[in-house]
Amino acid sequence: MLIAKNPEGKLVSALETELNREENYRCPGCQGRVLLRQGQVMCPHFAHKSLQDCQFFSENESAQHLSLKAVLYKSLVNHGERVCIEKVLPELGQIADLFVGDSLALEVQCSRLSQKRLRERTRAYQQVGYEVRWLLGEDLWLGQRLTGLQRDFLYFTVKIGFHLWELDWKREEIRLKYLIYEDIFGRVYYLTKTWPLTENLMTILRFPYQAERVETYQVTQRKKVSHVIQRELMGKNPRWMRRQETAYLKGMNLLSLSDQDFFPQVRFPESKQGFAQIRLAVDGFEKLFMQYYRKRHFSYQQTLYPPTFYAKIIINRHN
Ligand SMILES: [Zn+2]
Repeated sequence: MLIAKNPEGKLVSALETELNREENYRCPGCQGRVLLRQGQVMCPHFAHKSLQDCQFFSENESAQHLSLKAVLYKSLVNHGERVCIEKVLPELGQIADLFVGDSLALEVQCSRLSQKRLRERTRAYQQVGYEVRWLLGEDLWLGQRLTGLQRDFLYFTVKIGFHLWELDWKREEIRLKYLIYEDIFGRVYYLTKTWPLTENLMTILRFPYQAERVETYQVTQRKKVSHVIQRELMGKNPRWMRRQETAYLKGMNLLSLSDQDFFPQVRFPESKQGFAQIRLAVDGFEKLFMQYYRKRHFSYQQTLYPPTFYAKIIINRHN
């Protein structure tokens, strides 16, 4: 943790240069005694004196987590933002890694947590009218597939579609992965944008709402899809077993479908229980998306656009 209470009850930050090591510092969450520590790898920080259950601060905070919080804090302060580091929110029983202005919480998430916990913490913020942006550390970066947990970190705007935020500790960069789409085999496709953490973070976080340029990219459709599915079914892939079952119930067989029938192979990411961070109804956009491709001639090349593009095209067609 980077914040503690000094004997006068004032909050002090370990990032300040002139702190007295011998002072009697306390945890702002549980009021337990904490010590100022400074190591070779870790930036200066506070740690509970005795290992105890503090419901606010975990004791095994990584160097990555500490230093990312510190870098983000300094950057926000340098750009004139009103920001609190490790703000205790007693009404929620939790701590925001950073809290900007009156209603934006930034969470630097470096370790895996359960989807249940993520949903609880997100809902707690939403219920009191706070926005929360989860910024993901290395262990949670998006690779070629979306894990269940990563689906719950996805945001959605009409300008850049599904997206998520990543923090790169070593390069001191923030990365946006956007226009995220997923093919029927679970592979993800996206565009990436990177900013140094010294730039104005609030401007960067507004990008998903303000992006003006319509960006696109192309993906190639797999050929002989039914052969690929046949292999998946022989390997007892549960996803395809389930889909084949659903198809049977409709009197269909996936193995007798043509490549045209599977077009477009790249689609909106799916979530059975709904996306935790997304409050906008995405199914309307998903329908427009599917309509757009189904009305086009089949091609092995598929061009992906932002959701707003599909909405405009389809609505214009109807006028
Ligand atoms: Zn504590």
